[in-house]
Amino acid sequence: MNTSAAIRYDVAVVGAGPAGSSAAAELARRGCSVLLLEKAVLPRYKTCGGGLLRRASQFLPPSAASVVESSFNSVLLNFHAEDLQFTATRPEPLVQMTMRPALDQLLAQEAKNLGVQLVAGCALRQLEPQPDGLALTTDQGRFHARFVIAADGVQSFTAKASGWSPLPCLAPALEWELPLPPQVFERFKAVARFDFGFVPAGYAWVFPKRHHLSVGILTTDRANVNLAAHLEAYLQSLGIPLEAGVEKHGYVIPLAPRREPLFRDRVLLVGDAAGLVDPITAEGISHALWSGRLAAEAMASQQLDPARVGPHYQALLERHILADLRAARWLARLIYHAPRLRHWAFRHQGARITNFAADVVMGQRGYQAALRDPRSYLKLLGLI
Ligand SMILES: Cc1cc2nc3c(=O)[nH]c(=O)nc-3n(C[C@H](O)[C@H](O)[C@H](O)COP(=O)(O)OP(=O)(O)OC[C@H]3O[C@@H](n4cnc5c(N)ncnc54)[C@H](O)[C@@H]3O)c2cc1C
Repeated sequence: MNTSAAIRYDVAVVGAGPAGSSAAAELARRGCSVLLLEKAVLPRYKTCGGGLLRRASQFLPPSAASVVESSFNSVLLNFHAEDLQFTATRPEPLVQMTMRPALDQLLAQEAKNLGVQLVAGCALRQLEPQPDGLALTTDQGRFHARFVIAADGVQSFTAKASGWSPLPCLAPALEWELPLPPQVFERFKAVARFDFGFVPAGYAWVFPKRHHLSVGILTTDRANVNLAAHLEAYLQSLGIPLEAGVEKHGYVIPLAPRREPLFRDRVLLVGDAAGLVDPITAEGISHALWSGRLAAEAMASQQLDPARVGPHYQALLERHILADLRAARWLARLIYHAPRLRHWAFRHQGARITNFAADVVMGQRGYQAALRDPRSYLKLLGLI
C-alpha cells in the first residue's frame, strides 16, 4: 500500500473502551501524537454490569464522578446451596455503578481534551507492517503509526490481524437492563448483590442504577448452559418481574490472557483484547484502565524504540497484573469448579474470605500476596 497520503501518528489506539481511552490519554500526557479509532459512534451501549470496583477508581479522572449513578459501601454475597450470606462493608464505596455509554464517552472525551485525535464511527479494516511502523486502513481513510495499541475488546480484530491465537477462556454472560415500577425498584435499590448457586460454575448479580436494575449472570463452565433460563429463574426467585421494555444483551468475558506474549513487533494488546479480566470477579474495567496506562508508560519510557517497548510492556504487565491473575485463576478453580471444597471453606471461614475479597476489590491486597502470605486464609484452612 502507498502510505504517502496517510496521516502519521506516533501511536494509533484501536478501540475507545476504558483500555483504549486510558492508553490514549496517558500517551498524550507524555507528549506522543495519538490517533484513537472507535468503530461505534459514541455514546454506544456496551454489554457490562457497569460495576466500578474501588480499585478501578484510582485510574479514573475526577470527572468520572459525574457518571456514577449509585455507590455502595456494602456488598452482599449469597451462597444459596450452602444457605450462607456474607456482607462486606468498608468506610468508602466498594463499588460504584455507572452505565458504560456515559463512562466510555467521558473517557474518550478526556483523551480528546488532552490532544488525542478521536475518530469515531471508524473501524480498523486492515493492518499492514511497514519498515517504520504500521499502515492502518479504516472506514475513514488510511493512517500510519509507529505503534498500534489493540484495545478493541474481546473480539479484537487487531489481535487476529497481527497473528495472535484466540483467547483461551471465554465465559458467556448476560446483562439485562430492567425498568421496574418504583415500588419494586425501592426494594432492590439499597444493595449490590452477588448470588452463587443459580448457575453452574458462575454467579448472578443485581446492580441498582439510578432508576433501574442491571441484572446479569455468567458461567465459567463452557458446557451448554441455558443462561437465559437461569437468569429468569433467578429473577423469579427474587420477585423481580420482567416488565415491558427490558433490554437483553449477551456477550463473552475473557477470563484468561492470551498464551503468547502480549506484544508482537509494534503491536501491544491491552484490556479485553489481551484477556486481562479477573477470573474470580469477572471484573475487567480496572485492568483495562491499568494495562492502557502501562502500555503508554512502556512506549514513553522507552522513547518508542521498537526493540525495547514490547519487552518493557510485558515486564510491567507481569509485575503488576499477570502474576496476580495466575494466582486468581488458581483460586477461581477452587471457587467455581470444586463446589464441595467451596462449601466447606465458606461454611468455616466465609467471613474471613469475604473480608479478603473486599480488600482485593478495594485494591489493598492482591490474590498473589494472599497466597504468598504464610498466614493466608487458604493456609489457615489447610487447603494448601
Ligand atoms: C455481561 C458482562 C458484564 C460485565 N460486568 C462488568 C462489571 O460490572 N465491571 C467490570 O469491571 N467489568 C465488567 N465486565 C467486563 C468489562 O465489560 C470489560 O472487561 C471491559 O469493557 C474491557 O474494556 P476494553 O476497553 O478492553 O474493551 P471494550 O470495553 O470492549 O472496548 C473495545 C472497543 O473497541 C471497539 N472496537 C472493536 N473493534 C474495533 C475495530 N475494528 N476498530 C475500531 N474500534 C473497534 C469497540 O466498539 C469498543 O468500543 C462485564 C462484561 C460482560 C460481558
